[in-house]
Amino acid sequence: MIRPETPQQLAEALRMLAGEHRSIRMGGNFTKDRLGGPTTAAAETLTTAGLRRLLQYEPQDLTVSVEAGMPFAELQRTLAEKGQMLPLDPFTGPGWESATVGGVLGANLSGPRRRLYGTARDMVIGMTFATLEGKLVQTGGMVVKNVAGLDMGKLMIGSFGTLAAITSVNFKVFPVPLFSRTFVMEFPTVSKAFSERDRILKGQLPPAAIDVVNDSRGCRLLVRATGNQQVVDRFSADLAQARSSEGEEESAVWHEVREFTPRFLAANPEGGVAMIRTPLASMGAEMERLKVPCIARAGSGVIYAHYAADPPPTQVHDESGMMKKIKLMFDPENLMNRGRLHGYV
Ligand SMILES: Cc1cc2nc3c(=O)[nH]c(=O)nc-3n(C[C@H](O)[C@H](O)[C@H](O)COP(=O)(O)OP(=O)(O)OC[C@H]3O[C@@H](n4cnc5c(N)ncnc54)[C@H](O)[C@@H]3O)c2cc1C
Repeated sequence: MIRPETPQQLAEALRMLAGEHRSIRMGGNFTKDRLGGPTTAAAETLTTAGLRRLLQYEPQDLTVSVEAGMPFAELQRTLAEKGQMLPLDPFTGPGWESATVGGVLGANLSGPRRRLYGTARDMVIGMTFATLEGKLVQTGGMVVKNVAGLDMGKLMIGSFGTLAAITSVNFKVFPVPLFSRTFVMEFPTVSKAFSERDRILKGQLPPAAIDVVNDSRGCRLLVRATGNQQVVDRFSADLAQARSSEGEEESAVWHEVREFTPRFLAANPEGGVAMIRTPLASMGAEMERLKVPCIARAGSGVIYAHYAADPPPTQVHDESGMMKKIKLMFDPENLMNRGRLHGYV
């Protein structure tokens, strides 16, 4: 395995491998492979996990710059020391804490708080990536509005390492909210949970997270309220029948959500997870139809369905062929992460 320790070494490794026409499996700590779905067979494996420095942290400006191989959990700990955070919530559990910043962006990971904060694309303000030509390309910067021209960094987010290797990322970060409370409600059916979701989403205050979990323990609606004391108290009055928690007890509720997939995969080594995007109005019906353990980001239209055997592959819709053209510009010989995205590479 090739493990460069500087951006220049990474760019040089890519240039050399491309010059030799060698296919490349590129990643961080390769935790994604445990999710099932397509894996990449290649002549050479290249990891960005050796690039792990904190480059710049400006708590006053709410910005931070790190190398792509830094474990996401380490970045989160650094921010927490200053009362700040990145609300992306990667999976947790044995083996998953090693997920790198580059891997989180490569998979465009988002978690329960997506409803309020958006996804990585809303948090990245700058990036440097290394191409197969051996160039380091810098895009954006350290201020929130600074992209003139095409925002190339956004292209890398969710590209599953099929275009280039991210070497460093600049984020805008967020203060940890002063107050946070989570409400858990149990329902006899999925449709009843989604009726309650509809009622909450029509309310005037947006929840920070709203998930539906459906598994052998039944169907639960989880609602997280954050902000000032009045906001949290208004949710308490509105959801008086729910079980509410704060502090460590609340962290345990969301820890369980972040562990849901890793625990399922540990119990089902042949299994995998399919991500299903659905309009909010049809999420309940879709989740009932699935008949497998599921977690829904109930305010964002995403369902994670957990299959005991390999899930159906995600097909990329690229009718215009534009994605393929972009891929060919970066990687004309289709060397990087072959087979990662069906219908595209
Ligand atoms: C559809 C989908 C949804 C997922 N959702 C979640 C989720 O909600 N929560 C969660 O925790 N995990 C999720 N994952 C798994 C996620 O990929 C890992 O948890 C974590 O991001 C991986 O970190 P890693 O360092 O092990 O990355 P790897 O497993 O090594 O890589 C993950 C992807 O990112 C690419 N990549 C890695 N490093 C770089 C880099 N430096 N530059 C460019 N590309 C890079 C890889 O090529 C690969 O395609 C999801 C994965 C997929 C495919």
